[in-house]
Amino acid sequence: MADAPNTPRRKKLGLHWQIIIGLVLGIVVGLIVNVAWTSNTWASMGVDNPAAFLAGDAAAVLEDGSPANADPSVVARTVRFVRNSVDFLGDLFMRCLRFIAVPIVLFSLIVGVSSLNNIAKLSRIGGKTIGIYLVTTAVAISFGLLLANIVRPGNFVPQETRDQLLLTYQAEAEEDQQTAARGQAQSGWERLVNLVPSNPFGAIAGGNMLQIVVLSLAIGIGLTLVPTARSGPVIAFCEGMTDAIIKLVEILMRTAPVAVFALIVIVVADLGLDVLGALLVYSLCVVGGLALMAVVVYPLVLKLFTGVGPGRFYKAIAPAQLLAFSSASSSATLPVTMECVEKRLGVKEEVSSFVLPLGATINMDGTALYQGVAAVFIAQLYSMNLGLGDQLAIVGTATLASIGTAGVPGAGVVMLVIVLQSVGVPLEGIAAILGVDRLLDMCRTTCNVTGDAMVATVVAGTEGELSSAEEVERRLAEEEARGFDESPPN
Ligand code: ASP
Repeated sequence: MADAPNTPRRKKLGLHWQIIIGLVLGIVVGLIVNVAWTSNTWASMGVDNPAAFLAGDAAAVLEDGSPANADPSVVARTVRFVRNSVDFLGDLFMRCLRFIAVPIVLFSLIVGVSSLNNIAKLSRIGGKTIGIYLVTTAVAISFGLLLANIVRPGNFVPQETRDQLLLTYQAEAEEDQQTAARGQAQSGWERLVNLVPSNPFGAIAGGNMLQIVVLSLAIGIGLTLVPTARSGPVIAFCEGMTDAIIKLVEILMRTAPVAVFALIVIVVADLGLDVLGALLVYSLCVVGGLALMAVVVYPLVLKLFTGVGPGRFYKAIAPAQLLAFSSASSSATLPVTMECVEKRLGVKEEVSSFVLPLGATINMDGTALYQGVAAVFIAQLYSMNLGLGDQLAIVGTATLASIGTAGVPGAGVVMLVIVLQSVGVPLEGIAAILGVDRLLDMCRTTCNVTGDAMVATVVAGTEGELSSAEEVERRLAEEEARGFDESPPN
């Protein structure tokens, strides 16, 4: 219900603060469960195979053939219910984000390109975007290599721990290698030609982001070439759809604090804390490198090309960063990144709707940096010395491999297979780092999304498509005054 005319609106806690509270609570509760809940706890409740029990596998058996979960107690069933409910909430939220990602790219990019009305400008923005993406990715991976060569994290893992890690995660590592092998079956030319969808509806149905970008560009260009009487209604339809979807993002984001709690609590509860101890120096190397990008590189580039300060930038994109951290997926975070960059940072839609979807698929600074550290770390575990030539090969391969890789959890490890192959480091070594991969995935995805937002700001700034901080404040204040629940503006 709308407030009475003279009742002042109560100032609500900012969205990013609410998400931070969800995140911190999720970490605390997850840690408590992680430490307090051991396999003995399960056994005392009649559950001998927790994974099968949680998945509802009634027929699970132990190695000796006896039933694994013979007589689970009521408490055990309640725990399962709570865990599955939390899982459900997190999955539902991620699904809603993915549901929004395809239509928001499609409609907003068509609107962006057709309103640009200028093919020369479009090619300039395209060239600039891809150029900056490639350069920042190469810089990130070089930082990763530098850090790993200076710190030498491999030297901090005793031989016994190495063997144990390789053994524990062997099966998962093999799975990643198989996934990578399937992807590699395509040649460079095939990948290039595949950018053009042979069936646009197939591209949309399959959620192939790069093909959707190409498709939207093509339709947008087509619309600029027909008389306004014909193109007008189509553009108006796409504009209406974009507005409607953005409203859906706003509604969805109101549930983000709870969803972030649900996503994080499960990850932390399942985290192998003992493994984290063994891989601490390696993990710190990755996180330190990512922090370097966020604190030094991005603010520097922003200041140099746009004059936007780190305070304004980070305050605007905080919700997207927090979501990227919680979901470990830049594609799922895309709708929120677009909302933050447009509304809170002031990048015009025609730039953001082109630069951000492209970035979510091809720009992965955090992933590239992580691959640099991981490749050198694994080589160190095998006492291999990577020379300058090898390290340059890593920069080249990782930069190219990042193009066309979907922004989904775990994609970086699959790409790592290709990077290791290029320098002859044993692929089995991937098993050594899998224990902490989800945690590092969350951190690198945050960097990936930050990098995308930074490039969108730089491109907009250099094209005169960036609103001033005052203008953004004014618009946000107007929107707040209008009230979210009230009838739509005319
Ligand atoms: N999860 C990352 C992303 O979505 C990719 C990766 O695995 O590094 O950006």
